[in-house]
Amino acid sequence: MADGDGNGWVVCRCGHRHWGRYGAAGLFLLVSAEPFPPGSPFPSDTQVLLQHRALWSHQGGTWGLPGGARDSHEDAVTTALREAMEETGIDAAGGELLGLCRTEHIDWAYETVLLRIGAAPPTRTNRESLELRWVALSDVPELTLHSGFAAVLPTLTGRRARLVVRAAEVLAAADSGAASGSSEDNGVARPAGSLATLLAALSATIVGRPIPLPTGGSRHADGDPGANALESVLVAQIEVLVEPPIVFVTSADPGVLAVDASRLTIDRLLARVGPGDVVVTADPQLVRAADRLRVATITPGRLLQLLAAGG
Ligand SMILES: [Zn+2]
Repeated sequence: MADGDGNGWVVCRCGHRHWGRYGAAGLFLLVSAEPFPPGSPFPSDTQVLLQHRALWSHQGGTWGLPGGARDSHEDAVTTALREAMEETGIDAAGGELLGLCRTEHIDWAYETVLLRIGAAPPTRTNRESLELRWVALSDVPELTLHSGFAAVLPTLTGRRARLVVRAAEVLAAADSGAASGSSEDNGVARPAGSLATLLAALSATIVGRPIPLPTGGSRHADGDPGANALESVLVAQIEVLVEPPIVFVTSADPGVLAVDASRLTIDRLLARVGPGDVVVTADPQLVRAADRLRVATITPGRLLQLLAAGG
């Protein structure tokens, strides 16, 4: 591993070539003095930092996000912050991480890091930019955008959810699925076993990607999905609530946070979430309380289905 070892093209089976041997990451940097309410789209007058791409660059002359190739030893947040510093002069390391959005290709991936800072700092361009500009979100679609950024923009600006996972419930559900042993359950039971396996599966399958949630009526997502209108939300972050004795656990994924849940009563848990968040639980008391706060719930079984379907 060395600085710059990600520089290089990948010939992808999608039919294109992409910059970044280990994938690439960009920074979707928003300015707001106040934190954004969870789960709702960003206000349309929120400003985002865009880069008018140098003419020699890929799709030169279009507008996109500061970003670039990920080095082998970096996670997406590290790459996005480093590239933003190089290309804009902005040190956004103190910003609030709002989540990740992942675009998977066959042989390559791009990760967009969503970050909030309180005020717009001055920028300086380097040779990769014709111009840097703070643009209101409502004005972004008026510009000629880089095709990759244009494709992901609706997801970035749409509903974002934080998924709160009670690890003990999900691991128990996975164990019982494995014990029931029917062949249909095999895929569902796949993330059974260790917490590390669950964290890896959440990271690989759920965080940074859209998942379907039912809208209207019951917000509890475990009935027949066909019976409800489905709305897709970007799972921008996952909080995994971990009970003792296993509390010293970390995730390699900046979008998946392991939290010591030993002192988290239901009241304290609910104080951490807001409308638009999604709690994974089958605990009837927690489901009812979440419903009153307009916090959606899905059962551990539904999460395991999503993990199996997306793997
Ligand atoms: Zn590709």
